[in-house]
Amino acid sequence: MSTTLTGAPVSPGRAAGVVVTMPAPVPEPPLATVAETDVDAAVERVRAATTAVQESLLALAAGATGTAADVLSVTAALPADPTLASDAERRVRAGSRTAERAVWEAADALAAQLEPLGPPLSERARDVRDVRDRVVAELTGVRPPGVPAPGHPFVLVADDLAPADTATLDPAVVVGIVTSGGGPTSHTAILARTLGIPAVVAVQGAADIVEGETVVLDGGAGTVLRDPSDDEVRAARDAVRVERVFDGHGRTSDGHRVELLANVADPEAAQAAVAANAEGVGLFRTEFCFLGRDTEPSVAEQVAAYRGVLAAFGGKKVVVRTLDAGADKPLPFVTADDEPNPALGVRGLRTAVRHPEVLDRQLQAIAEAAAAESADVSVMAPMVATVPETVAFVDACERLGLSRAGVMVEVPAAALRSRSIFARATFGSIGTNDLTQYAMAADRMLGDLAPLSTSWQPAVLELVRATCDGAAAHGRPVGVCGEAAADAVLAPVLVGLGVRSLSMTPRALADVAAVLARVSFVRCRELAHLALEQPTADAARTAVRGALAEVLEELSL
Ligand code: PEP
Ligand code: MG
Repeated sequence: MSTTLTGAPVSPGRAAGVVVTMPAPVPEPPLATVAETDVDAAVERVRAATTAVQESLLALAAGATGTAADVLSVTAALPADPTLASDAERRVRAGSRTAERAVWEAADALAAQLEPLGPPLSERARDVRDVRDRVVAELTGVRPPGVPAPGHPFVLVADDLAPADTATLDPAVVVGIVTSGGGPTSHTAILARTLGIPAVVAVQGAADIVEGETVVLDGGAGTVLRDPSDDEVRAARDAVRVERVFDGHGRTSDGHRVELLANVADPEAAQAAVAANAEGVGLFRTEFCFLGRDTEPSVAEQVAAYRGVLAAFGGKKVVVRTLDAGADKPLPFVTADDEPNPALGVRGLRTAVRHPEVLDRQLQAIAEAAAAESADVSVMAPMVATVPETVAFVDACERLGLSRAGVMVEVPAAALRSRSIFARATFGSIGTNDLTQYAMAADRMLGDLAPLSTSWQPAVLELVRATCDGAAAHGRPVGVCGEAAADAVLAPVLVGLGVRSLSMTPRALADVAAVLARVSFVRCRELAHLALEQPTADAARTAVRGALAEVLEELSL
């Protein structure tokens, strides 16, 4: 008899496969010593294990592409790093440490030296610890850390995935992802969606799933089936995802326009957005160009970075968001490191109170980049909560000739005061990730709170409606640029609530466009009404999925 586990649906598509679990963390070897007569053998073991790990990392790098390949080949140099290898040998000879204990201590000592040096060197500390774990795993015979490579396609089951693990995910091999932790806007969820791997996160009971069993998962419905029948496995495998193409013109079945835009963070992502026929960029997260920087980039550097994105979208809309530093994206030159609640702290536009010159220089850089390129540039500020903040921001933009200045609506206060805010802001973009976090008082990074952290929450949908209604009073357009925009089932609901554009990871564009093209605007309004009437997020999602059953079936979503 099959059983169904449920979690948060974060990346659509169905998959069936054999489970491979993420290895448990490599345990710290006990503080043990070797006999004098075994010292040479222990040194030899250190050498053999570091060589073996180096070879396996080089093999992984050879099979990877792009950034993952670069990351792996740099990491592959570490096991043989003289500081690490010779320190481990010294610890065996001078301290009679066992091979595994010596490697552990040497790597920790090196990581501790790197950590205080600031990025990028401090980031190497994580790689050193990764290599430490691999060498110790080799010496002690436990499973090495990282995504396993069993040589066949599989469903990866994990507690959660670290950013380093996700760098090596290959969609041809990892056919589905199931995690017990992580929320809908966690790193794992965003990456799964970008790679097009069906995924369900925050699955209750995922910890009981065992290596080698077969599961069927539905990343659109948020379900994981254990002990599926042969028919259920076949049905999931047959539901191969159709590779759809977006024709570059978002609309409902009766021609109501919905601009479908892309979220990008750098020129490389802008190219991917162009390839996916995005109508423009609805959210350019500028802070990603500067993460890991200790000092503010110069205006010239900023101009170069922004032009890289603008150049990809000549003649098209690009919405540049000013620095959203703070909380999960701290930037040392504006973020205080002693706030007790960083998500409720000086982040987003609030940093401009203490550092007005940083915002001024960024606006100047955006204005220069806009003047040098032909993209149709708008600017918006993150984390706006009040009318005075809005007025100050729009005034600052206008002083530099940036006439299309808007605000992100991601604080409930802004949604509730939308009518006053849009008397001044020329457009709005709803950041549903943060709007959900603040409306539900649920940390967006916490898997335990995933049932609360979804934009299907009727309370969040109410705030979307309030935002659109207030803006409509002044004829101002409102879009959505949070992860909710990439949910093809939620898209018609958002349009029915009054949203005029949706900005998402480029990979989601074709599915969202396909659903909208099959639903009329009147139907979108009915679906919005249906969702708002429901008592819970689950009920809202189920009701809308039910009402769209034929469309979703046709599109295998
Ligand atoms: C959001 O909060 O929905 C948003 C788009 O901004 P970020 O995810 O960058 O905080
Ligand atoms: Mg946000």
